[in-house]
Amino acid sequence: MAIIDVEHLSKTFGTHEVLKDIDFNIEKGEVVCIIGSSGSGKSTLLRCLNLLETKSSGKILFGDTEIGGSQKKINDYRSKVGMVFQSFNLFNNMTVLENCMAGCRKVLKKNKEQSHAISIKYLKKVGMAAYINAKPAQLSGGQKQRVAIARALTMEPEVLLFDEPTSALDPEMVGEVLNVIKELASDGLTMIIVTHEMAFARDVSTRTIFMDQGVIAECDVPEKLFTAPNNPRTKEFLTRFM
Ligand code: ADP
Ligand code: MG
Repeated sequence: MAIIDVEHLSKTFGTHEVLKDIDFNIEKGEVVCIIGSSGSGKSTLLRCLNLLETKSSGKILFGDTEIGGSQKKINDYRSKVGMVFQSFNLFNNMTVLENCMAGCRKVLKKNKEQSHAISIKYLKKVGMAAYINAKPAQLSGGQKQRVAIARALTMEPEVLLFDEPTSALDPEMVGEVLNVIKELASDGLTMIIVTHEMAFARDVSTRTIFMDQGVIAECDVPEKLFTAPNNPRTKEFLTRFM
């Protein structure tokens, strides 16, 4: 069964229809990469999935339940569907450890000892346990993003969304972040990843989506989409990266 099922999702800003009748689903354990030009609606789609943006019409189901409703239901859902941003979004006045513990304490209402243990577990996972007392300003971009991933993992989400997690990084730091995401994929974590790293998308995704002007222009297994796309627009987009 699909863990997230999107049906006829549309999003309009003013008169601009940014997402047009989007249908897709993701099953548990799948890794779906979303590629496409700037402005095609990739971030808006992720933001609608995480309720950072309200859809204009359509349905988003989590399991068999339509998301939305009371604030409590929204908060429950958000703890199950985490998000990692291009710009890290760490709290700069807090240490690495405090950044990770904050969600456990405030959202999951875990006590200090439990929050500490969970945070250390995931900081170890991303190779950042040696930096617990550092402030974000003392870290490289790649390290900040690994902390942001650890922070998202402390919520033990069922699905993790990534919006261009390596786009703000210097080239030499891209690999360390992609390697962490690859490891999460091999652990079986369900993920939706917007990325411009084509080799990574091809390697890690179970299905790849090409978005173009607010629609899913193509969705296929990467072996097919990257080598023999059906849609000429996919082909045209990919030639710019090859
Ligand atoms: P992508 O992530 O693929 O680059 P976005 O989802 O960020 O694309 O944006 C898709 C379109 O929606 C763009 O034309 C963008 O200008 C527009 N857009 C995004 N957010 C807003 C907003 N809050 N208000 C108005 N227009 C927006
Ligand atoms: Mg974007």
